[in-house]
Amino acid sequence: MHFHVLTLFPEMVSQGLSESILGRAARKGCIGLETVNIRDYTENKHKKVDDYPYGGGAGMLMQAQPVYDACAAVKERIAIRRAEERAAGTEDVSPALFEAGEMLRASGAADEKADVPRLRVIYVTPQGTVFTQQMAEELAREEDLIFLCGHYEGIDERVLEEIVTDYVSIGDYVLTGGELPAMVMIDSISRMVPGVLKNEESAETESFQNGLLEYPQYTRPELWKNRPVPPILLSGDHTRVEKWRLEQSMERTRQRRPELYEAYTRKDRAVSYLSRDRLSHMDMLEVIRRGQAEVVRAEESGVLLYDVPSGAWMLSASDEDMGERLLSEIPREEKDLLFAVHQDFLRDSIARRFHRNLVSECFQAVYTRKRPPVCTATFVIRPLVPQDVDAVHESYHAVHSREYLLERIRAGEMFGIDADGRLAAFAGMHDEGSMGMLEVLPACRRRGMGEALEAFLITRQLEKGWVPFCQVFDGNEPSLRLQKKLGLKLAPGRLYWIS
Ligand code: SAM
Repeated sequence: MHFHVLTLFPEMVSQGLSESILGRAARKGCIGLETVNIRDYTENKHKKVDDYPYGGGAGMLMQAQPVYDACAAVKERIAIRRAEERAAGTEDVSPALFEAGEMLRASGAADEKADVPRLRVIYVTPQGTVFTQQMAEELAREEDLIFLCGHYEGIDERVLEEIVTDYVSIGDYVLTGGELPAMVMIDSISRMVPGVLKNEESAETESFQNGLLEYPQYTRPELWKNRPVPPILLSGDHTRVEKWRLEQSMERTRQRRPELYEAYTRKDRAVSYLSRDRLSHMDMLEVIRRGQAEVVRAEESGVLLYDVPSGAWMLSASDEDMGERLLSEIPREEKDLLFAVHQDFLRDSIARRFHRNLVSECFQAVYTRKRPPVCTATFVIRPLVPQDVDAVHESYHAVHSREYLLERIRAGEMFGIDADGRLAAFAGMHDEGSMGMLEVLPACRRRGMGEALEAFLITRQLEKGWVPFCQVFDGNEPSLRLQKKLGLKLAPGRLYWIS
């Protein structure tokens, strides 16, 4: 993980992060920190980087030009480093993929430099989404993160519109500059990067990790100021200790953070309902597990989720009455409503209530094994780049818009195989997390390209600790055969996408 911080006070950041666990992680090479002085990029001969705001008002604003140029220089360095890593063969290639008989190689330095896939530029600002542990986990999966620190009254809006992908705040208060917020976020994200924490510093049991605050902890001596350590912790009975800790966590969260406790119990109820038919509900269980969905309502007989990346409302209900109650929670005035529902009565209610029509009827297929599928075919699988979008759209336009496919490519979630100098097969991950968009050009079929691509996607997800799943259109026999061959299990229920 490489952090790049654009700031007017680089030493504040580099010194602040050079001590303790993060300093050690940087020395070990688990994380990299580059601080960039925005002032070095100003075209002003007096090295000025700020000016008065148009329209009047207090304070000064950072100007667009130096910020833009500093960011462009960082992006260029990242592109060069990635190209060099590829050339040297030191990029992160999973051993499991080699076992599967495949190789992952990027498509060449020129492509990468022309458009580095989805580099995230985070502007730390009190006007952003409030930073959470979940966000830290999500950001820790990136290879590079660029932080932009404001100062004075902030930064000219035009450059923000041009370069920023994420606006993030560390809380509802105003600081003098973005350096401390960037350091807070880097600290928290780094703890999620493998190798940064030693075993004894593990992040796994900490507050927020499972949606609860951590239980109370004690160390020597056993008796301090007449206060004993709770006897159960001295019992040596690990099962009882675990049970006690969970109870303490729940009670502490209920008392100190009732809103967190309510969300925890909602999630618990949701998982318990959905687990009654795990295969059919794997999409909903996975968006909860991957921390990307909000559990809007969870009852004994039904669950309503809102999946943030896709903007989809996901529903399952065991009876029509419950279905109506869940649907009544969805704001009617939203323009781009998208639904994934598990029962046909919900499909009919949505048509009546929201005047939306069925897009597709699918079967859910789930890869329930822990080990990657064994795939004998050997192909060079590469991440797609924006230049591939027309080739992809040409063969896949019936289902997804060019815009959506381009977004998936930019997100680094589409992969392909070349043959005879052209893209012969591709597949990728949808924004809600299912595998899909698999297509092999007619002339290249029956060589195992589809199987290799899907095995590659499965392996990638298993490495993240996820359960891979895909949704097969009703009647797509070749795809059903492929799912069977790779060992995916077909869910008994159907799934309907409506938009
Ligand atoms: N005028 C700005 C406003 O009202 O939104 C506040 C500017 S603040 C004085 C200067 C810089 O500090 C911001 O550009 C931002 O980078 C950083 N900053 C201040 N408070 C922050 C917070 N709560 N979270 C993240 N960044 C913050």
